[in-house]
Amino acid sequence: VKINLLSDEVASQIAAGEVIERPASVVKELVENAIDAGASRIGIRVEGAGQRLIELSDDGSGIPPEDLAMAVARHATSKLRSADDLFHIHTLGFRGEALASIASVSHLSIASRSTDHEVGSRIRVDGGRVQVEERVGIPHGTQIRVEDLFFNTPARLKFLKKDLTERQQITAFVTRYALAYPSIAFHLTMDDANEFDTSGSGNRREVLARIYGIDFGKQLLEVDFTENLNEISGFISPISLTRSNRREITFFVNGRWVQDIALTTALMKAYQTYLMVGRYPVAALFIQLPAEEVDVNVHPAKAEVRFREPDQVFARMQRAIRRALLAYSPVPRFSTNIWKTALPFGEGSGSQAGETPLFDTAIPDADLGSMSSTEASENLAAQRLGGQIPMLRLVGQIGATYIVAEGPDGLYLIDQHAAHERVLFDRLVSKNAKLPTQQLLQPITVTLAPDASRLLSSSLEILNDHGIEIAEFGSNTFRISSVPALFSRGDPAEIVRSVVEDFEEDETPLKSRTDEKIIARVCKRMAVKGGQVLSTEEQKSLLHDLENCSSPRTCPHGRPTMVHLSVDLLERQFGRRGARSL
Ligand code: ADP
Ligand code: MG
Repeated sequence: VKINLLSDEVASQIAAGEVIERPASVVKELVENAIDAGASRIGIRVEGAGQRLIELSDDGSGIPPEDLAMAVARHATSKLRSADDLFHIHTLGFRGEALASIASVSHLSIASRSTDHEVGSRIRVDGGRVQVEERVGIPHGTQIRVEDLFFNTPARLKFLKKDLTERQQITAFVTRYALAYPSIAFHLTMDDANEFDTSGSGNRREVLARIYGIDFGKQLLEVDFTENLNEISGFISPISLTRSNRREITFFVNGRWVQDIALTTALMKAYQTYLMVGRYPVAALFIQLPAEEVDVNVHPAKAEVRFREPDQVFARMQRAIRRALLAYSPVPRFSTNIWKTALPFGEGSGSQAGETPLFDTAIPDADLGSMSSTEASENLAAQRLGGQIPMLRLVGQIGATYIVAEGPDGLYLIDQHAAHERVLFDRLVSKNAKLPTQQLLQPITVTLAPDASRLLSSSLEILNDHGIEIAEFGSNTFRISSVPALFSRGDPAEIVRSVVEDFEEDETPLKSRTDEKIIARVCKRMAVKGGQVLSTEEQKSLLHDLENCSSPRTCPHGRPTMVHLSVDLLERQFGRRGARSL
């Protein structure tokens, strides 16, 4: 056998195969270059599933004319100078291979005008030969056209999947980068039809809604976690929202999309018992860590990374996810069981009496049962992060205890006491709001037993910090002279009692935050009680105030403030919908 030295052309095609596997890889490399160039707008035009044409235009820094030919040479990069730089890479590119690879398997043309140039210049690369065309009138930025991809590598062409699959790959890629870079306006067209675009407003929720639709996007839970210079942010699905494959699990590490099975495994572990076998969450997680802690130079396509301390990263991610899942305290929904026992003519009549919980406070639609009690108490600790409620329209009060309201998705039954507790608590602990206080006409004095008095003395500062003016007034005696105006309905003496009474069991979740615990107790005492008739105005403002709470669905002690009967459930109960199973 004779050993031949491969021609440059063949050698570069082989190398190109590692970087450019399919049309989506071209899109990826070009988009990454545009991001590295600081673009705020990236337009992508695709024709014939990317094989006929991929055109990208950006408004980034551009390439000076004298560097243009260099940009397509192998191992030519402006992003890396020495081997040392490899340990702290801050750009997406660094290998200087992408343009060279693309050039060797397509007809490539690049027009670019760098920021400090009056005109742009253009080059074409055909069969490895660079032809320079001077001076083109274009705006600042870069336009790259990749035509007839793989025209000279028929083997590769044969392995391309159906057009539909290739198009999906491109879209999946662009949408992910749009999510990772919400401040960049992306615009993707395919065969002249608009496929996907974002505004570049910087709002990730907005991008989520573009990708998944408004309803689905709204259901995703926000992750926002920092520990030891590791920042983990993004979105995950609640346990009720799953997929049959892991395609919707995306990780970005330092702004780079990575496909890392170990990260996926760590994510799945965080969901643990919540997921049924074969079900996967939806997740888009962005992990930021110091550049030295991650090696990105593992694979030519740069889709794999190595962490210096992988276990730490995985553990942090699990904590981040756990926390986000537990913070989600949904509105409990009536289980259909209640109706079965309540209505003598229901399908399950009689047979289930006695075993039926009034309503289901577990996470709704959960694939697997409810949380354990320790998890439930973690839930309480994290409850201030909970999800929002829609705008509600007041219907009225029943039993002088519950408020009935209508939302876009059905009926809400609100416990006025728990809801008011939540409202008071949020107002009192909010740092930025200066609370209006109300001078008491007649200051109230309270005398306590010595040990209770000691307890109260130690809490005076906290109370004063939260708008309750209370001071020592002789031995074991205290005087309250003003309270937050919010407390207009309560008896100020109750404040003292709330601080000195024995701690209730359900307060333990807040044990790490003494002042919040004390404020939560005060709020409980000062909130309207069940059995108090409220005026329409009071009911309305309670609803309104609740809507503005950060965690409207639970009281500060973690109990639900509301029960939700969805339109869907109502329709089923009244037989307006076919007997589709739940
Ligand atoms: P790398 O990104 O690894 O540096 P590439 O082959 O992708 O290698 O690009 C080569 C060089 O071309 C880059 O280092 C950069 O200087 C320049 N370049 C490529 N695309 C753009 C762009 N859209 N805007 C500005 N410069 C670009
Ligand atoms: Mg690059």
